[in-house]
Amino acid sequence: MRVELAKSAGFCYGVRRAVELAEQAAQSGRPCAMLGPIIHNSSVIDYLKGLGVELIQSPDQAGAGTAVIIRSHGEGRAVHQALAERGCPVIDATCPNVSRIHRIVEQAEGEGRQVLIIGMPDHPEVAAIAGWCAHPVVLEGEEALARWLEEDPGRREIPITMVSQTTSTHFIWTKCVEKAKKECTNLKIFDTICNATYKRQSE
Ligand code: SF4
Repeated sequence: MRVELAKSAGFCYGVRRAVELAEQAAQSGRPCAMLGPIIHNSSVIDYLKGLGVELIQSPDQAGAGTAVIIRSHGEGRAVHQALAERGCPVIDATCPNVSRIHRIVEQAEGEGRQVLIIGMPDHPEVAAIAGWCAHPVVLEGEEALARWLEEDPGRREIPITMVSQTTSTHFIWTKCVEKAKKECTNLKIFDTICNATYKRQSE
């Protein structure tokens, strides 16, 4: 079988940045750990472990004073607070595209808007975005959005801010936007699908 490699295959900008920050942390010689695997690639994880970067799964596994690298998916507010309470400095490798979504949803809630996140509920990036809200609603796509609106017709009138998981597809997002525009009367939408993802999907 002939396999054709997409031109954009390889590390995206956000993951490259996270790996470089982990390398720099290791080179600094201070104790450091990545909170969750920084990339879905066991060779790179082993390479970073070889440099001295520990792999932990939760803030309570971080030794006091250990610098903790937040991966490009980001983390919610509670994780940042837990690390601060443990005295662990944070090396924040959250992709800037993801941090932007954190700011959007935090501000939207501050303005009394209902945040809708279009994405996979169990995806770490989505969980982290939701972790910047007190009452987020995560919906996988148009059908879930339709069900949510039907459950309580009054929802069509509330102020809604809708964002997307950065790695969602334009098809899913566009369907949700069409539905929401048709039904909701006070809607702000932010197309937060990342350009690297869009390029890969196109290729
Ligand atoms: S938002 Fe895009 S550039 Fe950033 S880590 Fe995700 S896929 Fe990579």
